[in-house]
Amino acid sequence: MDGKAHANIGVDLESTQATIDIVKEMAATMEEHRQWLTRLDSEIGDGDHGTNMHRGFQAALERLENTDPASPSDALKAVSMALIGKVGGAAGPLYGTAFLKASGALAGKEDISARDAAQALEAALTGVKQRGKTEAGDKTMVDALEPATEAAKEAADSGSVADVFRAAADAAAEGAEATVPLTAKRGRASYMGERATGHKDPGAASTHLLLDAAARALAGS
Ligand code: ADP
Ligand code: MG
Repeated sequence: MDGKAHANIGVDLESTQATIDIVKEMAATMEEHRQWLTRLDSEIGDGDHGTNMHRGFQAALERLENTDPASPSDALKAVSMALIGKVGGAAGPLYGTAFLKASGALAGKEDISARDAAQALEAALTGVKQRGKTEAGDKTMVDALEPATEAAKEAADSGSVADVFRAAADAAAEGAEATVPLTAKRGRASYMGERATGHKDPGAASTHLLLDAAARALAGS
């Protein structure tokens, strides 16, 4: 492979394969943390988030295998369709929207630059906020994804795609942690009122795990 043509991704991999590797790492992480996510969701929801996400990412892997995507955008679209079809609940359509918007942001691009990656995250964030009618502070996945996007945009000014995802993942970890004292304004946890305080939001936790998986996949390749 001609390394120069793929210099933007910052790793020695063609971007479609790098995207698939990210999704594989995400699926492995959802498998590994399935019980933890479900426990978080049983504290302030209905205890299915880990199962939902695991099922969705297994379906995403299958879909990637069956459709053989030709671009990062195609790969993300396949993931979106799998999540929308298989995850159910609130998180399925929201994560499905996130991947679909990221796919749209990367349409027509074969080499993904750091700025492209940050733009894809921003498109995902905007999609989730619109679809979920959610703002930061509502104790949802947006509390992880919004600071992640801000950090990603900053990192994109000087860093690689791997740097963008590392910055995003670290900011998402803080954002997820910051959901602990909040009461929820959206989703099932909003029915709990004050009783939701003291618990981390499961969707914010899974957003952190997914971004961290992306960062690890890019750093390791
Ligand atoms: P359900 O609540 O239908 O059981 P999950 O348990 O899979 O679905 O996902 C719950 C997570 O979805 C929450 O922790 C929260 O982060 C996220 N969520 C729920 N409603 C919204 C919303 N309107 N906007 C953004 N995120 C939301
Ligand atoms: Mg649930």
